Amino acid sequence: MFENSTRFYIDGEWIRPSTDATIDVIDPSTEQPFSKVAAGNAQDVSRAVAAARAAFPAFSSCSRVERLEILDRILKVYDRRSDEMARAISREIGAPITLARQSHVRGGRAHLEVTLAVLCEYEFDRQQGSSLIRREPIGVCALITPWNWPIHQIAAKVAPAIAAGCTMVLKPSEVAPLSAILFAEILHEAKVPPGVFNLVNGTGPEVGQALSAHPDVDMVSFTGSTRAGIAVAEAAAPTVKRVAQELGGKSPNILLDDCDLRSEVTTGVHKVLRNSGQTCDAPTRMLVPKDLHDQATAIARSAVEEFAIGDPQRVGTQMGPVVSAQQYDRIQTLISAGVADGAEVVVGGVGRPEGHDRGYYVKPTVFANVRAGMKIEREEIFGPVLCVIPYSDEEEAIRIANDTPYGLAAYVSSASLDRARKVAERLRAGQVFLNYAPGDLTVPFGGYKQSGNGREYGRWAIDDFTELKAVVGFAPTTMPGG
Ligand code: NAD
Repeated sequence: MFENSTRFYIDGEWIRPSTDATIDVIDPSTEQPFSKVAAGNAQDVSRAVAAARAAFPAFSSCSRVERLEILDRILKVYDRRSDEMARAISREIGAPITLARQSHVRGGRAHLEVTLAVLCEYEFDRQQGSSLIRREPIGVCALITPWNWPIHQIAAKVAPAIAAGCTMVLKPSEVAPLSAILFAEILHEAKVPPGVFNLVNGTGPEVGQALSAHPDVDMVSFTGSTRAGIAVAEAAAPTVKRVAQELGGKSPNILLDDCDLRSEVTTGVHKVLRNSGQTCDAPTRMLVPKDLHDQATAIARSAVEEFAIGDPQRVGTQMGPVVSAQQYDRIQTLISAGVADGAEVVVGGVGRPEGHDRGYYVKPTVFANVRAGMKIEREEIFGPVLCVIPYSDEEEAIRIANDTPYGLAAYVSSASLDRARKVAERLRAGQVFLNYAPGDLTVPFGGYKQSGNGREYGRWAIDDFTELKAVVGFAPTTMPGG
């Protein structure tokens, strides 16, 4: 299944890396290595960037129809290999196999499909008066992605970069590199021209930094933590390349006093526990009217207790382990900080769930009476931990919701759509979901404040991979009355 794992995909071939260094891939449900990938360095990066640069002139001038055909071929091979993809993701990040099939793999597919549809209609050229305004491919792009929704994040960048006519080097997370290797195999089978897509595995400080600093990379599209996003921007600054950042979140979930409390609290809990809480836009700060606080936490407790924790490979498991020992430790430290700060543990807490002595299993945890300013209220925990925060009126709810360095997503539930809309207008976040409306991959996704500066999905994703050129005097000026 992973025969290419110790090679890099460069210029249409699986090549030997410059050294024999490798990184173990750990199964989070057993804590045991089950595969390994090559660990690249600056030399491997330069080789991949050179291949992408050499492929750029031809690929950037190929027609829209050719790019549509490439995306269509990728989609077909992706579908054929979707079960392998689901199994790879389930194994490398510990996602329940059903979630891997229904959400991870389908999410990646949806980005390919949406990009195909958008590319059919995308306006690359527009005349304004006597000038022509063109959107041209930005050039060689470095794509740096996280482990939490691995194929979703990769497809959200690769598909629009191809649609725009860019060439690229992907550096996936070293924690979840196997889905990326499989994706490279899919692109190879789909006959993506050599050099258009290249893959180099390795760590952030080594491969990620080399890509960010490389003078022949025109743009970095980065998804990950705010901490690493800042490091990428700093490394990129001397070459003034564009850096699109999709970073962390701490999304507020305002339940207004007229909402259906049982249903909205239960859905909120499910969204926090999904993917073991490792979702950037998870609604982790649940704001409830103070009179309904105790009722809400009781509902949250029963929703958590009904959630099936277990072996990711077993159909029926709703929550597996978290991805790594590092994440496990980080979550435990933050849960301890919540207790130390005086938040009340309704369910869960420090330690492992009963019967799970092996694997990075975390107790799904609900904290009640969380106050603005507590560490668990400020920091992204990235685990199955919900903070319930009481508020006294709508004004206070909006103030607490916005009082965060992040601004990725926000949620509002109310029996009155009009009321929810008015609150949404005042929230400083890139996406606001009313009454848990299902996600829409055709609308822009990205953050305000320290959640980032780019916009992915739909036509906005293609915009991000283009430069704007104005050709002034493109058409003869028509004189008034002439
Ligand atoms: P991370 O920042 O540790 O790693 C992300 C990627 O950056 C990896 O490929 C990593 O190797 C690389 N990297 C790390 N340090 C680097 C450096 N100094 N220079 C260059 N590259 C570096 O994040 P993670 O733990 O993989 O993912 C979880 C984070 O991603 C969370 O904060 C989550 O909110 C965020 N995320 C955001 C979005 C979004 O769309 N806004 C989506 C998914 C995840």
